[in-house]
Amino acid sequence: MLLDSMSLTETTPLVLDGKWVRDQILAELKPRVEKLTAAHRQPGLAVILVGNNPASEIYVRLKVKTCAELGIYSEKITRPDSVTTAELLGIIEGLNQRPEIDGILVQTPLPPQVDKNRILRALRPDKDVDGFHPFNVGALVENIPAPRACTPAGIMEMLRRYNIPISGHRAVVVGRSDIVGKPMALLLLHANATVTICHSKTSNLAEECRRADILVAAIGRAHWITRDFIKPGATVVDVGMNRKPDGKLAGDVNPDDAKALAGAYTPVPGGVGPLTIAMLMANTVEIAEQHLCSG
Ligand code: NAP
Repeated sequence: MLLDSMSLTETTPLVLDGKWVRDQILAELKPRVEKLTAAHRQPGLAVILVGNNPASEIYVRLKVKTCAELGIYSEKITRPDSVTTAELLGIIEGLNQRPEIDGILVQTPLPPQVDKNRILRALRPDKDVDGFHPFNVGALVENIPAPRACTPAGIMEMLRRYNIPISGHRAVVVGRSDIVGKPMALLLLHANATVTICHSKTSNLAEECRRADILVAAIGRAHWITRDFIKPGATVVDVGMNRKPDGKLAGDVNPDDAKALAGAYTPVPGGVGPLTIAMLMANTVEIAEQHLCSG
């Protein structure tokens, strides 16, 4: 009986609980929001939502709700799918100039007629809560403080809070998008991991992944990462959020294979998902503190 329970402990992977990490992050932010509000004013976040994408509507609702729970002022600006680049640039210009708005977020995807790059570059870098402005991307490359992309920053918080060792370990990031893969790889590099970035043209993807002590899957293909890709004992972080025909969410990693082989893994849902909003709140508070300091 004792032997059974010992072998169970040895083989049962650690489930990295994103809700637990989110709740910790939000609980730590609350007194900072209260302090700012008492000393100065509420931190303020403006969210621009274009069109009627159901997923975007859910994300924005959740962001606004989390702001309210923390005591952050939020403003939702909605425009129809027919919006022009010029109209959005005008809205951003107005928000850039309003002192009570610390952070501005433009919910993506944007309709095809809108020039997304011009929109993201129009945000004042010190209000860019998503960390997508080239100025902030440059700061990430140089490892100097600036708002960081929320999902990768949340994953770093999770690894830190679960004491997953990074320095000197091999990390493989599958995916090279500007919002997840690239910033994730840079954050791991700055934490002294030896980082490999893989993508759709990578030869021998499974072989590359099997070298990883930390494997981050940000691909957008349901259950693409299977047991052949996972080194026994590795930490497997599943960023994927793929909607199956039955409406349920599926990660990029086959969950049975992660359970069987990983030392630690993030479930879907409940792993990486909750971290993104938590880090959005963290970025908003951090920016508001800096705005207060710079007076
Ligand atoms: P994306 O922009 O579509 O990028 C996907 C990346 O995966 C690309 O770099 C692509 O390579 C690579 N890829 C595609 N198929 C591949 C294959 N067969 N083998 C190897 N690499 C492959 O997606 P994203 O925005 O980074 O998002 C990735 C996933 O994370 C999606 O499921 C998304 O919904 C999810 N996500 C979750 C959160 C969250 O809060 N949990 C936040 C953001 C995104 P190429 O560059 O060569 O095309």
